[in-house]
Amino acid sequence: MAMTNGKTLVTMIAAGNREIQDFLESDQRETPYLVIDLKVAAQQFRRLTGAFRETTVFYAVKANPQPQLIRQLAQLGSSFDVASPAEIDLCLSEGADPGRLSYGNTIKKAADIRYAYDRGVRMFVFDSEAELRKLAEHAPGSAVFCRLLAGSAGAQWPLSRKFGCAPDMAVSLLVQARDLGLRPVGVSFHVGSQQLDPTRWDPSIAQAAQVFREVAEHGVHLTLLNCGGGFPAGYQDPVEPIDAYADAINSAVERHFGPYRPTLAIEPGRFIAADTGVLRAQVVLVSQKSYEDDHRWVYLDIGRFGGLAETEGEAIQYRLVTARDGEPTGPVVLAGPTCDSVDILYEKAPYRLPLDLEPGDYVDILGTGAYTTTYSSVGFNGFAPLATFCIGDSA
Ligand SMILES: *Cc1c(COP(=O)(O)O)cnc(C)c1O
Repeated sequence: MAMTNGKTLVTMIAAGNREIQDFLESDQRETPYLVIDLKVAAQQFRRLTGAFRETTVFYAVKANPQPQLIRQLAQLGSSFDVASPAEIDLCLSEGADPGRLSYGNTIKKAADIRYAYDRGVRMFVFDSEAELRKLAEHAPGSAVFCRLLAGSAGAQWPLSRKFGCAPDMAVSLLVQARDLGLRPVGVSFHVGSQQLDPTRWDPSIAQAAQVFREVAEHGVHLTLLNCGGGFPAGYQDPVEPIDAYADAINSAVERHFGPYRPTLAIEPGRFIAADTGVLRAQVVLVSQKSYEDDHRWVYLDIGRFGGLAETEGEAIQYRLVTARDGEPTGPVVLAGPTCDSVDILYEKAPYRLPLDLEPGDYVDILGTGAYTTTYSSVGFNGFAPLATFCIGDSA
């Protein structure tokens, strides 16, 4: 019962935002653009901290680095997962304390580590000996944590094998970290983005507990378990409420760590940012490929290169709203405006749009506050990067 209510709620956030609707109706701005409501980000942040008690929240900046959003989260007490000097500068200039930044990219240039260290960042991740040696040299004495390889089964935007190392390697690297004068504090992992299955955290938590026990035998006492991101947003299909994830993670921690409960951290990106945004696009062309086939192709003024990169493999399936909703619909292939043939959004997914949809009509793409502006190209075919407007600024 509780789950059904949660699902309804998640679906409503994206669709029924009065302020965003008012903004969209208030003016004829040039499309495409994204409008984000900062109040929704605050709501999502509170929902997370309500579900995850005594857990440090590191917002993954890459999900949406809009400065007002960063400022808002900093004011709410969020910490930040950053991946580059530019993200560090952004967080610092929007009021975050360097002590609240975690350099969570396992692949860092030596100069960038030094840059972070010089600005007061003292928390870094690694997943290899070579990276650990860079950290020892350029961020001496810093707190470091080791990222474990994690399976991405169940995730709609998987992270595969690029990040993390095997548990036995993590054990020797964490011991080595101490010997190199660093401060080994814990372990992290990421179960894949838009992870629909709350039980997918359990295997990594079990591995982490094993790593904690094994390094303790070498006199290294870890305290931090960083469970990464992956918490899903509701797109076409509703998702389980965030409490289901918090409960699954907390009970896994209890099961595998027993009385030696570590300090928990999470790194949500999508969960905080996705529901803040609606992307307004316009229909450029509606056409058919032959007189025999009445399947319509609908070309929008945004596509794979304008910010909708997560439609790759039709992985993320956004909900669409038009002013003609309620009228009879038919199946469509949806594509972007560029001269690249991979610029097709949905061909296999069964999208339907109103039959009398025509060029100039708006198509609003819901739940687009995360992983859109950051993926938008700087000018493929001369199309400008995706513009963002912010509303609901309380600062
Ligand atoms: C991108 C990223 C996240 C955020 O993942 P979501 O699925 O958006 O929650 C968290 N941690 C790290 C290290 C990341 O790279």
